[in-house]
Amino acid sequence: MLFDIDGTLIDSAGAGGGALLGALQAAFGVQDPVPVALHGRTDLGIMTELLEKHGIQANTANLEKLCQVYFQALPAEMLRRGGSSLPGVEQLLASLRVDPRCHLGLLTGNMPASARIKLEHFGLWHYFKFGVYGDLAVHRPHLAAPAMKLIAEQVTAEVPASNIVIIGDTPLDIELARAMGARCLAVCTGGFEAQDLQRAGAHRVHADLTEVESILAWLTSLECQQPI
Ligand SMILES: [Mg+2]
Repeated sequence: MLFDIDGTLIDSAGAGGGALLGALQAAFGVQDPVPVALHGRTDLGIMTELLEKHGIQANTANLEKLCQVYFQALPAEMLRRGGSSLPGVEQLLASLRVDPRCHLGLLTGNMPASARIKLEHFGLWHYFKFGVYGDLAVHRPHLAAPAMKLIAEQVTAEVPASNIVIIGDTPLDIELARAMGARCLAVCTGGFEAQDLQRAGAHRVHADLTEVESILAWLTSLECQQPI
């Protein structure tokens, strides 16, 4: 199973967006930077739009410069904003980690460095064996191919896509799961309503991850072993 980070595992209380706008200011001298939509998008997509919106070419050098300043600013911003891991997350991850049927990975819009900073901040990084990150695609559903490739390398090439579950909080997580032929368990901890997530095609929706037994039962159930 592959977990999204923001809104699913953690609430960073706006630290990511805050650090990113601060980095745009510090790296490029942009005064009063204008925010862009963040929910469910990849950092590469967000950063590209952010640079272009402020008249800066989104080339490799500028993206790299923005990333470096962002990664430097993020740990302090995480401390300053507070934030928390979301309800049920630690218990669920601890249970899944000791289940030999489960392989825990990340499928996130964050860059590898920011994913690690955010999860280490809340003591969650060590649960994950591998990850697909937001440096690989501007549009989140385009992470489907790299995700399938990584699962084949890290778990087995034999795993049917329908046995893969994406756990996320936005319609874009669901779109990505559907692009992979995988299932999606969606949670309402990122700001979307259950009906929005159902309408977007989630296979199961929970208010949060506190119903550990019920979630574990579904993840390991026959329903989850059948072709979609
Ligand atoms: Mg999210």
